[in-house]
Amino acid sequence: MGAPELKFSTSRIDDALARGARGAGIAREDAMLLMEEAALGDLLEAAARLRDAGRGRIVSYSRKVFIPLTHLCRDYCGYCTFRSDPKPGHAPYMTPAEVLAVAEAGVRAGCKEALFSLGDQPERIFPEAREFLTRHGYETTLDYLAAMTLLVLEKTGLLPHANPGVMGADDLARLRQTNVSLGLMLESTSTRLRHKGAAHWRAPDKAPALRLCTIEEAGRQRIAFTTGILIGIGETLAERVDSLFAIRSLHQAYGHIQEVLIQPFRAKADTRMANGDEPSVADLQRTLAVARLIFGGGVNIQSPPNLVSDDYPLLLAAGINDWGGISPVTRDFINPEAAWPQIPTLAARARESGYELRERLAVYPEFANAYFIAPELRVALARHCGNDLYARESA
Ligand code: SF4
Repeated sequence: MGAPELKFSTSRIDDALARGARGAGIAREDAMLLMEEAALGDLLEAAARLRDAGRGRIVSYSRKVFIPLTHLCRDYCGYCTFRSDPKPGHAPYMTPAEVLAVAEAGVRAGCKEALFSLGDQPERIFPEAREFLTRHGYETTLDYLAAMTLLVLEKTGLLPHANPGVMGADDLARLRQTNVSLGLMLESTSTRLRHKGAAHWRAPDKAPALRLCTIEEAGRQRIAFTTGILIGIGETLAERVDSLFAIRSLHQAYGHIQEVLIQPFRAKADTRMANGDEPSVADLQRTLAVARLIFGGGVNIQSPPNLVSDDYPLLLAAGINDWGGISPVTRDFINPEAAWPQIPTLAARARESGYELRERLAVYPEFANAYFIAPELRVALARHCGNDLYARESA
């Protein structure tokens, strides 16, 4: 009695895989079917083949230095160890001199990207943040960020990429002049996650509509943009797929999503979600592979190697083509428990899997052009670009 049903389902899966293999993206119905029912091996094979056709056998990374401008944040996401409230004896922000010192260490280590990560709008709830900003002549954290990205650009030539949370149109316009690209994780379109006790409870900046607005406005302003989803934070598979489709429709409208980042939740001590279940590597692989089929072969899909311990080549098998930023200088402040692999090790493991590791800049080669890059940044960018718009080989 069961056999004909299985055959029917198998052929639907094969058809969905075949549509994915054409590289033009799949419909939501196909994505859900593959997410829930496809054999993992078949799914991975289709995704890896599509990546090879669209991106070649190259896996990229960006050599970055991490500048955590402030850990203060007005949100209280259930999984976050980056954020903090003001603490006596701790400065609320890095000073300009501290920012420059970290950036200069990055230059000495051959970095090209200055990744600014920070909490979202702390000045709206913390007097300590307002007091620091006023004393230094700024009104908002994003004003200060604009000044610090300019400082780093001018004094060190590193290419800034900031991840400062929700941004308005004016913030984006200003940051476009000092950042070769910007980022904001969508994380999830699920509004359920903002309910009491869920991952985005007490996190007003995690309202999906707000984040989608920022990402859309970045598209209008021709900003090469990094976004993505965080999996395993209480979302359903359907919500996961919906989040990927929300990103895809913005990319279809504006063509500005330079990479789609898929990150697994990691349970961290001293957070509300310390006992939460982490997604397995197979779950992450499945999501990556479905994302590859949703976006097609040409879009950059990234997953960080330091969140799956030594298993990271398994992510290559799922169709990614980028490892994200790797720092030879600073630790991963967002996931401090997870050390980045050494770059030569990453290159050797990529080679063993049949891929070449290439260093890219904070803006991907296909976005390193006058449409996306502000005139103020072009000289600094040209200094770091090789002929094929990947990073110029370091000495
Ligand atoms: S994840 Fe980001 S927005 Fe949420 S608490 Fe941490 S720093 Fe704030």
